[in-house]
Amino acid sequence: MTHTKPSLRLGIDLDGVVADFTSGWISRYNQEFDAEIDPASVTFWDGIHKLTHFADMAEFWHWSSDVDGASIFRHLEPYDGAIEALNTLFDQGHEIVILTHKPRFAISDTFAWLAEHGLKSREVHLIERKWDIDCDLYIDDADHNLEAYVHYRPDRLICRYVQPWNSPREHVIDIAEWTDLFSLVEKSLDRGGAAEPA
Ligand SMILES: [Mg+2]
Repeated sequence: MTHTKPSLRLGIDLDGVVADFTSGWISRYNQEFDAEIDPASVTFWDGIHKLTHFADMAEFWHWSSDVDGASIFRHLEPYDGAIEALNTLFDQGHEIVILTHKPRFAISDTFAWLAEHGLKSREVHLIERKWDIDCDLYIDDADHNLEAYVHYRPDRLICRYVQPWNSPREHVIDIAEWTDLFSLVEKSLDRGGAAEPA
């Protein structure tokens, strides 16, 4: 008799969750413009250009599209333990489904970044409407995405990757460390995959 190992489809955002966008752009910006922006000053989602000399976000994105020959997304560092945790979950049989919204200029850099960091995923979506992709669990750092997940996928596990720019939300589970995800996945499997937010 064959026995199918229970597994979950894990919908994973990249920037602010796996890739450290904040420290990444700030270190490049500080270097290039001899500035001293503190990454800890990013406590809001919209309008990060206000920390810079750029007039608006269009100028910010224009700069970020070519930093040392690639877009800023090519240069980001992963958060500690993120790649390891995801690859462990992949090796346990779970599907790692990347759900990331990127500017058009960053598309090939995103695939190059995933390959460079050895993230094992069979499914990568560069998409704004992330909730259109069916997963058992979602992790994101943007309040507007968490709100949309609660609205469109109320019966799934929805996780906030805790950052200074997001807030606790009803029906959303806080993930502060990547290792928090292991017990959450275990608990979900014990319940037969049924979602039951804390
Ligand atoms: Mg994000």
